[in-house]
Amino acid sequence: MKRRNFIRNIGVAGVGLPLVGSNLSFDLASAQSKPGQFPVSITTWNFHQAGKKSGELLSEGIPALDAVQQGVMIEESNLENTTVGKGGAPDREGEVTLDACIMAPDGNCGSVAYLKNIEHPVAVARKVMEETPHVMLVGEGAYNFAIQNGFEPTNLLTENSKKHWKKWLKEKEYKPIINIENHDTIGMLAIDKASDIAGACTTSGLAYKMQGRVGDSPIIGAGLFLDNEIGGAVATGMGEEIMKNVSSFLVVELMRQGKSPQEACEIAIKRIIRSNNRYKDFQVALLALNKQGEVGAYCIHPGFSYVLNRAGENINIKSESYL
Ligand code: ASP
Repeated sequence: MKRRNFIRNIGVAGVGLPLVGSNLSFDLASAQSKPGQFPVSITTWNFHQAGKKSGELLSEGIPALDAVQQGVMIEESNLENTTVGKGGAPDREGEVTLDACIMAPDGNCGSVAYLKNIEHPVAVARKVMEETPHVMLVGEGAYNFAIQNGFEPTNLLTENSKKHWKKWLKEKEYKPIINIENHDTIGMLAIDKASDIAGACTTSGLAYKMQGRVGDSPIIGAGLFLDNEIGGAVATGMGEEIMKNVSSFLVVELMRQGKSPQEACEIAIKRIIRSNNRYKDFQVALLALNKQGEVGAYCIHPGFSYVLNRAGENINIKSESYL
């Protein structure tokens, strides 16, 4: 069964909306805002299995840091997912290079970028956080560090990704794709039973990117940021725009000033729109969770959705968009 068949898609226009394929009605506002209802996790796009995994772990009392790592690792291993981990689309030269980061409730964080031949960059990022005095390792250094820490080298380029890359080579059109069938960078935030928040973000980046290109996903403050007193945010979409605006950090700072997660995401997306008049050509989506367990999401183009897991139950929710 396809993953999306598991998912109950709902709209955002209001409360009491019927669930697709279900007789139940669903109160979106109350699902997004259930203060104090922990554990909770939110995951970009429709990564249902990842949301389910984190929800199960959180329900068992596993800390948020482990839950987000284990959750996103599901997609790193999913060969059908061409935007994260093994099976991810390669760069122009046909090499798959991965970016990931992880952030703990105490503000500690780890990150890897331009990592080749390792299936779980987020697990390497966690090692960087825990085993080194640094935040970020890249390229060959990150790879050597992974091997020294027991990670197995693996070929990340699948036959399917290779076939699509060869097809792309014929035209070599370098154009960002707005929403890749709802499968893109996986960013996840979770609050555990102890009310602590953690987050992770992992991606193969833009398909057929320039060699050496690194996006927002491994950049703390851009692809992911959190503060255990306030909440957290993750980003997906055009990494360059997210980096220029340090969007995840901005969302958390707006929540610190009293904005709801929804208001914070909207303000941060509008900041990107104001700063680049070509905003119609790319997608950026932001997802946020505050310490009260309230959720917000906003994006430029329609098409972004996220998985909310509360009390072990997954719901896929469409985000509102600027356009
Ligand atoms: N943000 C990722 C990057 O720019 C890609 C994505 O989320 O679609 O690498």
